[in-house]
Amino acid sequence: MEIEIATIGGYEEVGRQMTAVRAGDDIVIFDMGLNLSKVLIHDNLQTESMHSLDLIDMGAIPDDRIMSELSGEVKAIVPTHGHLDHIGAIPKLAHRYDAPIVGAPFTIALVEDQIQDENKFTVNNDLVTMEAGETMSIGDHTELEFVNVTHSIIDAINPVLHTPEGAIVYGLDKRIDHTPVIGDPIDMDRFREIGRDGVLCYIEDCTNANKKGRTPSEAVAREQLQDVMHSLEDFDGGIVATTFSSHIARVSSIVEFARDIGREPVLLGRSMEQYSGTAERMGAISMPDVDMYGHRQSVDRAFERIMNEGKENFLPVVTGHQGEPRAMLTRMGRGETSYDLEQGDKVIFSARVIPEPTNVGQRYQSETLLGMQGARIYDDVHVSGHLSQEGHYEMLDALQPENVIPAHQDMKGFSGYVDLAASQGYKVGRDLHVTTNGNVIQLVE
Ligand SMILES: [Zn+2]
Repeated sequence: MEIEIATIGGYEEVGRQMTAVRAGDDIVIFDMGLNLSKVLIHDNLQTESMHSLDLIDMGAIPDDRIMSELSGEVKAIVPTHGHLDHIGAIPKLAHRYDAPIVGAPFTIALVEDQIQDENKFTVNNDLVTMEAGETMSIGDHTELEFVNVTHSIIDAINPVLHTPEGAIVYGLDKRIDHTPVIGDPIDMDRFREIGRDGVLCYIEDCTNANKKGRTPSEAVAREQLQDVMHSLEDFDGGIVATTFSSHIARVSSIVEFARDIGREPVLLGRSMEQYSGTAERMGAISMPDVDMYGHRQSVDRAFERIMNEGKENFLPVVTGHQGEPRAMLTRMGRGETSYDLEQGDKVIFSARVIPEPTNVGQRYQSETLLGMQGARIYDDVHVSGHLSQEGHYEMLDALQPENVIPAHQDMKGFSGYVDLAASQGYKVGRDLHVTTNGNVIQLVE
């Protein structure tokens, strides 16, 4: 059976992920993501009403025109998890393929939200949920399996396409976490089994490929948060926290420790309300009596109530961990809300700055504005959601793949992975396929 892999997006950047695998006549697409930084650099761009080709030209979504070089039929579009760099282009591209979108339940719920917000295209693809551990037939000889993995969002999976030539394991995005706070640990036993049966190709998440050692568990981030927040138990001023809205495990840890120190947590900001609200409606988390507000007016009213009843009784959990200009924390820094920041108030960033010039600049601005009002900053109370080098080593050891393809980075970002794979006997140009966007790699002729 002929096997080809098209590296469509996310091979020159962290963002706009998209990969297609052709096994005989059947094609499966993994991820359809957005490169948000290419959107944010333009002021006030409304992507909901933009055409796909304009977004492709901007580098914001994958250039899927290369799909015409694959001779087969697309049988499924498979987003691995609900981060925008993996699902954000679905509203712009999925309608071009007569295929269902197959994902884990939380991922599909977020895809539904994306499709609803779209103004330009009508996306009528069937939405199919599949749980980790389940399989689905793709063609006569090909089967799709979801393996449970752990990442900075719930319901992350690694899809595996089983073909007569061996398994194709699409390894984006994950860390090896045996104590993930919410959800099951990563299923390393299943990866080892798949490895024993034979892996033709492994596509790896290289976000942190230049970092040595092991990425800690979410339990470690939880402990850091507990340490910071419990240390503030006797503080009687304002405490504000910010994190990734989609990081449900992190948000729920903040909520829990807010209660521990006698404060009422309130989730504020559109995406904060959206992700946690969706997770709660689906029963993925239980946050009884936690108020969440997304719309501007209801957020403003919540801030007024916090000030009237005393900010020492509350802990607002807000958007804006990267200093995004229109996010809640940045508005607080600019004094645009009725929350009155005073000398000595605490701001906890349960996030790191994404090392990209726009983010670094915006975060600098936000922190400076907060600091001018006297806020004390607790930075980087956080661990990454992506594997570092020892995790990459463990995955190679478990899967023993015949071929590897580094992804989810640029050339510089791949370098640590290339060194690691070379030390394990792989060779660039032979079985270690370092590539860019828009290429087709033929694995079996
Ligand atoms: Zn991700």
